[in-house]
Amino acid sequence: MDLNELLPDDLLDRFRARAKGYDERNEFFHEDLAELKSQGYLRMFASIEDGGLGFGLQQAAAAQRRLATAAPATALAINMHLVWTGVAHLLHRRGDASLHYVLSEAVAGEVFAFGNSEAGNDSVLFDSNTVATPLADGGYSFTGTKIFTSLSPAWTRLGMFGKDSTGAQPALVHAFITRETPGYTIKDDWNTLGMRASQSNTTVLDGAVAAPERVFRRLPVGPNADPLIFAIFACFETLLAAVYTGLGERALQIGVETVHRRKSQKNGGKSYAQDPDIRWRIADAAIAMDGLYPQLDSLARDVDDLADHAGMWFPKLVGLKVRATETARTVVDLIIRVSGGGSYFAGSELGRLYRDVLAGMFHPSDDESAHSTIATAWLGPLES
Ligand SMILES: Cc1cc2nc3c(=O)[nH]c(=O)nc-3n(C[C@H](O)[C@H](O)[C@H](O)COP(=O)(O)OP(=O)(O)OC[C@H]3O[C@@H](n4cnc5c(N)ncnc54)[C@H](O)[C@@H]3O)c2cc1C
Repeated sequence: MDLNELLPDDLLDRFRARAKGYDERNEFFHEDLAELKSQGYLRMFASIEDGGLGFGLQQAAAAQRRLATAAPATALAINMHLVWTGVAHLLHRRGDASLHYVLSEAVAGEVFAFGNSEAGNDSVLFDSNTVATPLADGGYSFTGTKIFTSLSPAWTRLGMFGKDSTGAQPALVHAFITRETPGYTIKDDWNTLGMRASQSNTTVLDGAVAAPERVFRRLPVGPNADPLIFAIFACFETLLAAVYTGLGERALQIGVETVHRRKSQKNGGKSYAQDPDIRWRIADAAIAMDGLYPQLDSLARDVDDLADHAGMWFPKLVGLKVRATETARTVVDLIIRVSGGGSYFAGSELGRLYRDVLAGMFHPSDDESAHSTIATAWLGPLES
């Protein structure tokens, strides 16, 4: 399906108009979600034969980039659903159908959230503070606190993990629970600077039980080469990069429109688009964005094409995430500087992008972790 058909201009206009109100009222994007569902957006990774759109990561990233030009918080939250369905798709492409049900359920209308982040857990996927207790039937019960669970008001499936320390070797257990599962609560604690419509509330698990058929991995603690980890990284970093790329792209569009509109009294009423200093800043922003589009596109395509980057896969993926989030932040900053004080008023789209773009630095891999991964790839590990 063509991107203009999936996300037509009039739909993006509606999303952009609603984004302002969601942000002001700190409200979840229910109307956007309903429209995305009816467009088939949530089933993009399922094959056409299975009722999906047959997208790979390259097309999904292009779609997320376009969506984020209208509603970054909506795009960021939907990313979490796309990560799980993308993981299922990537594993399937690599001969592992263990998560095929995720794609079937997405086609049936289920919404998947990503409940992995934990307070104080900077090992991210390689350790967990959540306790996973094995049950007699092969299921697991989970107790712990997951922070920043986007899509909190709407998810029907929550993918998460915890640590089972009952065996000789502790294991990280990954599983899905359904919304009907007892034993969890969602706190009403999302009141942030930006990305407000994502409603990424805290989820407290208190003996939430995942059925045996919903337990999909048991992995050792620490880094490992399981395809699940690659698939999560590949989808998460690429789709996240796509959201912030779209955000930066929109900031640049706003900048171009604004400097054409603003007139300089000093320069005889000419628009700021004629001011050499302003032109320089717009050019700087355009140069920065221009480098990002092909990097996003080609790395996503490499994932689809099963390219072999061997030990450079992780550096490339985290590098893309850092470049996209940092470039978008620089570009928004440049555009604020050419747009004048109007962008400082509450309700200004650019002001909202300024707040939204800051979230980019907190997502994994954060700056320190990404630089450590990349330095190790180029220089070898730190000596102990
Ligand atoms: C907009 C947005 C949406 C996100 N959506 C998702 C999502 O859907 N799913 C997901 O898994 N992740 C999501 N993330 C989470 C993200 O990836 C990071 O995990 C998150 O930003 C926390 O970062 P941090 O550890 O640097 O925060 P920190 O500020 O270090 O910690 C976050 C909170 O934990 C507390 N804390 C920190 N250390 C400890 C400790 N040792 N003991 C007790 N409490 C502690 C802090 O006081 C703080 O309140 C999202 C992030 C953002 C910004």
